[in-house]
Amino acid sequence: MARYRDSKCKLCRNEGAKLFLKGDRCYTQKCAFDRRPYGTGPHGQARKKMSEYAIQLREKQKVRRTYGVLEKPFYNTFVAATRQKGVTGTILLQRLETRLDNIIYRSGLALSRSHARQLVMHGHVLVNGKRVDIPSYLVSLNDQITFAPKSHKDLKAQLELRASAAVIPGWLEANLEKLEAKMILMPERQDVDATLKENLIIEYYSR
Ligand code: SF4
Repeated sequence: MARYRDSKCKLCRNEGAKLFLKGDRCYTQKCAFDRRPYGTGPHGQARKKMSEYAIQLREKQKVRRTYGVLEKPFYNTFVAATRQKGVTGTILLQRLETRLDNIIYRSGLALSRSHARQLVMHGHVLVNGKRVDIPSYLVSLNDQITFAPKSHKDLKAQLELRASAAVIPGWLEANLEKLEAKMILMPERQDVDATLKENLIIEYYSR
């Protein structure tokens, strides 16, 4: 399966924002974006005037990289959002937020989205008692997310090492002791990062 293999911190520096891709490290003084808040490479510090297209492209890339989704599946998510009734931008964000890997991360059951993705792909995660190894699986309301019993010891040890306490959003219910999570409400626009500009993504794909 294709995946991004280069430095994650490079992504933050080139998008000009902290994307929180490395778990606890993102909250420490070691954060590369905090230390060098400009782009990578010899022209990283040059002031660039961006065209309208470049602004839309950068926003799309920022959101895509935040959720760790490659271009094709991200575009497919956008197309699926356009086919659903409602505000396309909000539905796009809802579809990203309700991905299984994102729910595990947001519930505090993984150190980062890529850690959550790895847990899913390695078969540690059960949805309603059945193993699901697809990170993009869309979780439905009240689906019970648990972990295979053999995974508990290792995962608990990993989570104990985390420096930052997980802030669990109100639309999720999580039990970190039992390693369980449930989506009790559909996330609304105000539940998602306010700095994301989904309208620019729609404009980008509508060109
Ligand atoms: Fe981005 Fe900083 Fe986390 Fe690296 S440590 S992924 S630069 S937020």
